[in-house]
This record gives sequence, C-alpha cells and structure tokens, in this order.
Amino acid sequence: MEQYAAPINHLIEELSRLPGIGRKTAQRLAFHILDLKGDEVVRLAQSMIDAKKKIRFCSICGNLTEKDPCAICSNTRRDKSTICVVEDARDVAAMERTKEFHGFYHVLHGSISPMDGIGPDDINIKELVTRMGEEVKEVILATNPTIEGEATAMYISRLLKPMGIKVTRLAHGIPIGGDIEYADEVTLVKALEGRTLL
Ligand code: ZN
Repeated sequence: MEQYAAPINHLIEELSRLPGIGRKTAQRLAFHILDLKGDEVVRLAQSMIDAKKKIRFCSICGNLTEKDPCAICSNTRRDKSTICVVEDARDVAAMERTKEFHGFYHVLHGSISPMDGIGPDDINIKELVTRMGEEVKEVILATNPTIEGEATAMYISRLLKPMGIKVTRLAHGIPIGGDIEYADEVTLVKALEGRTLL
C-alpha cells in the first residue's frame, strides 16, 4: 500500500471495493484514471453521482427508473393480465431484450435465503400481493433456478394460487444454478414459452 502517494492508494482502495475488481485491476484502473484528461475524470465521476442521484425504484414494480412510475409501468399498451416476477432489475432488462414478453414486471430485489437471514418480508413480496387485482390473470415466476430462487417461487406460488391466479414458472433452458440475467435471448424465450403451471 505504501508504494504510492496517498491519493493513489486511496483511489486503488475504493476501486478494489467494486465487485469483480481485484487489487491488480484496481491498480490498472487507477493508473488509467490518472492518465485521463481532467474533464474526462470529471465526466466519469459525474456520471456515477448522476446515476446515484437520479435513479430510484419504481413505486409500482420496483424496477430502477429515472421517472416514477417507470416506462414499462406507464406503458398503457402492455398486457395488464400478466406479471413477470424477477429477482433483480437486471433481469427485467434481460427479459425485455427477448421482445417476447409484453406484460408487466415485479422486481423482488433478492430471494428468500434463510442461510443469509433473508425472509419473505425482506424482499418485495407484500408489494406483489397488493398488485393482484381483477386484471391480473397470470404471474410468471422468473426467479433464478437456484435453491433460493426455487424457494422464493414456491413461497409466492403458495400465496397467489389461493387468490385464483394462474402461477407459472420459467421452464427448461435456464441451467440449474444459472442466472436469468446472463441467459441469452433464445434460451430465455424458450424458457418463457415452456413455462409450467405451479
Ligand atoms: Zn415500474
């Protein structure tokens, strides 16, 4: 740590806190930043501050948005009868890339994980239940095919089925232990088409 001047060490330290950034990468990034022109550094820093300041959660679906409600929730041409439940805002982007789903979303912001002390009340499940009105006919559970994702899907299914909602789960295609976010479009479309009734 002492090999560089304090501000460089500080920058390396902050960068290495980012996910997937080890010490070596943090050093490389820090030196890259030092090589940038002053205004380029300001632009980079400002984009982080702006994103943090302007982006919030949609009060309806929980997606990340600049305007509340988000562009998807405000789109009157979408199909009100279907809600696709995902763990993360990045999964919404993945589903949207398929262009095959035209309903609405609900972002849980996590999954039930007793090992990590995350229970049903710690993620947006209550908010999902309150969205079940006359118009919602089907809820597609697109949580990740992990133990936590499956447990979350089962939990939600047990809540919604007695309300007369058709509850389905994304089918084959998504590898077990995989992540919806990283699934390619074809795989996601297949999984969507082959969804099974829970
Ligand atoms: Zn929304």
